[in-house]
Amino acid sequence: MPLRSVFWQKLRRPEIAAARDAGAVVLIPVGSTEQHGAHLPVDMDIAAATAVCVRAAEQVTEFPVLVAPPIWSGYSPHHMENPGTITLRHETFTALLTDVVDSIMHHGFRHLILINGHGGNVGHLAALANKLTTSGRPIAQTSWWNLVGDDFREILEGMLKGVGHACEAETSCYLALDPTGVDMNLAVQHEEASYIVPADEAIFRAAGMDFPAVFRAGSPGVHGDPTRATAEKGERILAIAASRLAAFIRAYRQIDLSQVPALFPE
Ligand SMILES: [Zn+2]
Repeated sequence: MPLRSVFWQKLRRPEIAAARDAGAVVLIPVGSTEQHGAHLPVDMDIAAATAVCVRAAEQVTEFPVLVAPPIWSGYSPHHMENPGTITLRHETFTALLTDVVDSIMHHGFRHLILINGHGGNVGHLAALANKLTTSGRPIAQTSWWNLVGDDFREILEGMLKGVGHACEAETSCYLALDPTGVDMNLAVQHEEASYIVPADEAIFRAAGMDFPAVFRAGSPGVHGDPTRATAEKGERILAIAASRLAAFIRAYRQIDLSQVPALFPE
């Protein structure tokens, strides 16, 4: 029986139980609500992550794949100087995700995958997945752009051959998903290299050192060239990400996760 909807929250109790009994894989889209320049809506990151999950889930027909209610919130204090951003603290973010993951596992689902759409979440999600996995709740996670990888080189025309912020890739995805949300008249090309205090980026780069970037007040809020964005590029990007995710889902489900040791208590 095909699922009536891939969205967990649209299903009824017996439908979710049947999906569980059929060995469903559950995708959890994670994003943020944050400023994305003047031309994009603040739901950019969760919109892209959710779209990749839904498209992948719809491609897998051999077993059910559910998309959990999208996590609209993430870790974005570095965007708080500009309006629109709603951030969680690290503790809130990881506690929220832990409770969501534990709830889904509590109902008997074993194969869960976190699909992230926000760069600021990357380190937090890696630490969370490590903690969950070593305490007996293994979970796979990635950011959707990792599924696209080198294919960005073929698709994108600007200097940046990947995802920056409110950039060519992200704007293209939004144009593909909902062109009414984008105001291309306000799209500007900009390279954001803003530290918390004035400092030469080259010093850090030469030493292989990371120093977190922030989007200070009045910044265009863009890193990359959204003026080159098109819906056609967005369709290509989303299609590649979704088909790679679908392939991973099929392989991941083959792995036996029924007996996983807890190496260390939470
Ligand atoms: Zn973004």
